[in-house]
Amino acid sequence: MVPPLRKIDRLIWEIPKTYKPCMKVPARIFADESLIEKMKTDSTLEQAANVACLPGVYKYSIALPDAHQGYGFPVGGVAAVDSNQGTISPGGIGYDINCGVRVLRTDLTENEVRPRLRELVNTIFELAPAGVGETGKLHLPVSELNKVLDEGVDWAIRNGYGWTDDKEYIEQNGSWDFADSSKVSQRAKERGKDEIGTIGSGNHFIEIQVVDKIFNPDVAKVFGIEKEGQVLVMIHSGSRGLGHQVATDYIKVAESKMRQWGLYLPDRELAALPLTAREAQDYLHAMAAAANYAWTNRHLLMHWVRESFKRVFGRDPDKLGMRIIYDVAHNIAKFEEHVVDDEGHRAKVWVHRKGATRAFPAGREEIPKVYRGIGQPVLIPGSMGTGSYILVGFEKSMQLTFGTAPHGAGRQMSRSAAVRSLPPSKVKAALESRGIIIRSAESEIISEEAPEAYKNVDVVAEVSDALGLAKKVVRMRPIGVVKG
Ligand code: 5GP
Ligand code: MN
Ligand code: MN
Repeated sequence: MVPPLRKIDRLIWEIPKTYKPCMKVPARIFADESLIEKMKTDSTLEQAANVACLPGVYKYSIALPDAHQGYGFPVGGVAAVDSNQGTISPGGIGYDINCGVRVLRTDLTENEVRPRLRELVNTIFELAPAGVGETGKLHLPVSELNKVLDEGVDWAIRNGYGWTDDKEYIEQNGSWDFADSSKVSQRAKERGKDEIGTIGSGNHFIEIQVVDKIFNPDVAKVFGIEKEGQVLVMIHSGSRGLGHQVATDYIKVAESKMRQWGLYLPDRELAALPLTAREAQDYLHAMAAAANYAWTNRHLLMHWVRESFKRVFGRDPDKLGMRIIYDVAHNIAKFEEHVVDDEGHRAKVWVHRKGATRAFPAGREEIPKVYRGIGQPVLIPGSMGTGSYILVGFEKSMQLTFGTAPHGAGRQMSRSAAVRSLPPSKVKAALESRGIIIRSAESEIISEEAPEAYKNVDVVAEVSDALGLAKKVVRMRPIGVVKG
């Protein structure tokens, strides 16, 4: 059954609070007609209504334009909960804690890269291991892994990976001092110590992209993007088995204690911890540690991307201008202050962003100094065959979505449906005929990740722009992809 939907504006829909007795607020869906129709085909809308049942939730639960069915929360789901009265739901952050996207600029153009493209893709494939459960080049003793968990990219830079000023271009400088490695289980650490510096499974990737269209040249210039044809590199990865285990551990804790806490929620997958309970604080410290791990992971992958360019083009990465444009988390909860009602009252909240990107407008102190005057960069990957976007956070996001924008095009086809209907050889041939080279650890991934499996990223970016959540700056197209 599809929940009742009321259209309250051209791109805003509401599931009324009366739909379920447990709903404390309505659910709001940000989408055009085509996207809302897609959401009706799985349990996205039902899940958005369920999220509105979380204790302490403010205003409304949110599904963004790219939303699709997830674990408990939709992927593309947002909920802000009171930092005292609320609960934190690990499923509302997701199993891949601080999965996120990083984009690098280069001085190179498509014409310069094309002749060496296959070699470049192969070199990246060789240096940055891909695939589920794949182990990397680093095998850290737990004592060293604890430093990664507590320090984030500071650890990487201290150990010779990346440049000192890289930090200025990463959300939270890639290091969250709230992290506490002692709240991460031994099992999680066992999984994490050999997987650091690896891409992960199929939806994760390293992609060589070309600037296809510049919508806002002034802002693009601040990002170091000057012209169409310029080559960028996008990295999408997260906290690997470590983050997965942290989520698993604390979901188990929540499930076992919820009754004791008098917490009843409409879906077992929403298992939540009251923010005043020690267990919730333990989870948040462990989540922050997993976030540090993920930033470090992307930092190592970036290091090997720079090394690959150095090998192939015979020039130092700094001479190639390979600086970070930005690095965003899209599976995380953040402690923030927001206006939480129509009267303008403010409150300290934990914002769950699950498959969702923070999109603060210019001026917010959370934005790195270099971008504070223009707004936070928002990175929206599309698919390995279509396009990807860089946008910049805009004012309406604060009022509509607790400062949030979409994180991708969003799936529209299940993995199994994609495998049934899109043979890998066909997908690969179609991409190659358009000049896109792909390497993947497993051929089935190529079917699961076919461009057809994802929604139209141009529509998602356009809806975000039209709503004023984030404004389009640049569109990129892929030319070379290393898939997890
Ligand atoms: P998620 O974190 O939800 O797995 O993925 C985020 C988004 O990345 C997806 O919604 C999809 O639009 C995008 N995406 C997945 N694979 C690729 C890829 O190979 N290249 C690009 N550019 N985007 C991708
Ligand atoms: Mn992920
Ligand atoms: Mn992701």
